[in-house]
Amino acid sequence: MTARDPAPAPGSRGVVWLGAPSFPDAARIALGDTRLRANLKRATATIRDKRVAVASELDDWEDLRDAAAAIKNRTARHLDHYLVRLEESVTAAGGTVHWACDAAEANRIVTALVQATGEREVVKVKSMATQEIGLNEHLADAGITAYETDLAELIVQLGDDRPSHILVPAIHKNRTEIRDLFTAEMGRWGQPAPENLGDDPRELAEAARRHLREKFLTAKVAVSGANFAVADTGTVVVVESEGNGRMCLTLPETLITVMGIEKVIPTWSDLEVFLQLLPRSSTGERMNPYTSTWTGTTDGDGPTEFHLVLLDNGRTDTLADEVGRQALACIRCSACLNVCPVFERTGGHAYGSVYPGPIGAVLTPQLVGIEQAASLPFASTLCGACYDACPVKINIPEVLAHLRAEAVEAKRTANRLPTAEAVAMKAAGKVLDSPRLLAAAQKAAALGGRAVARDGRIGRLPGPLRGWSDTRDTPAPPVESFRTWWRKNKEGER
Ligand code: SF4
Repeated sequence: MTARDPAPAPGSRGVVWLGAPSFPDAARIALGDTRLRANLKRATATIRDKRVAVASELDDWEDLRDAAAAIKNRTARHLDHYLVRLEESVTAAGGTVHWACDAAEANRIVTALVQATGEREVVKVKSMATQEIGLNEHLADAGITAYETDLAELIVQLGDDRPSHILVPAIHKNRTEIRDLFTAEMGRWGQPAPENLGDDPRELAEAARRHLREKFLTAKVAVSGANFAVADTGTVVVVESEGNGRMCLTLPETLITVMGIEKVIPTWSDLEVFLQLLPRSSTGERMNPYTSTWTGTTDGDGPTEFHLVLLDNGRTDTLADEVGRQALACIRCSACLNVCPVFERTGGHAYGSVYPGPIGAVLTPQLVGIEQAASLPFASTLCGACYDACPVKINIPEVLAHLRAEAVEAKRTANRLPTAEAVAMKAAGKVLDSPRLLAAAQKAAALGGRAVARDGRIGRLPGPLRGWSDTRDTPAPPVESFRTWWRKNKEGER
């Protein structure tokens, strides 16, 4: 979602970008962008290698994954209980809990809370939940400016761009592009970039630090997401790498946190498991640089007002699906993105959602309904690399296959007349069901295929099959099928 995109309409769940093309169309465009592919290849390979190295240091890595999956599964089974417990704990610690059934309600709550302070500016900690609901756009409509303070989110905001990765939202940009962006745009949002800014990462980080400092020191209201919230104690946890989050969470007078309801965990000791898995799986670090935890409000220490907005926005619908509910265990580490061969080639924008990559392909259709994102479950080779990498053992290929069936069924229900694809599949089913018909079809295909083949390859298949040959050659069919060859050569030997 860019600054130009409208805030989600009432009743809408946000999540997907309005007017975005379907995945196949967007992917085709992205694949033609060689600079994008080079940026992605470099960035994903670096994070991937670091993750494998630090994960392999732990002898109990697989035990930790099992424990994380068990905690998440147990919490999901009793989510109502843990959420009420969380509300009690946060309230007892001096915070206020709000419940939002969808994006529109969450936006209304946050906007009213900011307006009640009389402020027109807020600083933000990187947050997927607020991106999901289009909070910045909604605040802008109400005359409130939200300043992103995470470096990558700042890059996206300055560029009027969309995030393309869960952890590194500006992964599609290289440092020269970032330097040019800082030079052109920083002045529009506050402290300009220094003259003659170079593209060395240190220089860029320093420019961002100077730009953001005045925001941290003047902001009275901050908005954050949450990585975890502990039901027993009411403690909310934000995990980040730059320290910008720590500034937002401690300096302002009012702190508003928007959190998906699936982020609750039962006890403080459960955190131990996730704080080992998350940094290793996301940034490839042994320990997270800044882990901020707070419990309600404390006199003389940090914000004097704390609001926790618990966001549903399609999550209880997802929870009702016995296969699909696994996606709610996600801790947004982005390991599945970095190992995905499809993501590495298309980048995140092609998914048309704030949640890109394998997790986006299973989460987005469930949050917004399969009809709104029917192409996403097909945005995968089902190679299983995401399942192997996932620290909470979400079986993403299983959910993808499950959602593919739902997408086909939804299409069938929506179309009164069967589609050409459905007719073809039905015919194929009949042929595959009958050895006699299959043998005849193989013979016909072999004859036809060899007639149009050149040098053993078919460049272009006819009719709807062209979709297959548009991007690849098809080998010419062999002179005889395997069954014919078997009959001739092997049957007599038995
Ligand atoms: S699905 Fe698993 S690997 Fe992917 S972002 Fe979520 S926790 Fe990480």
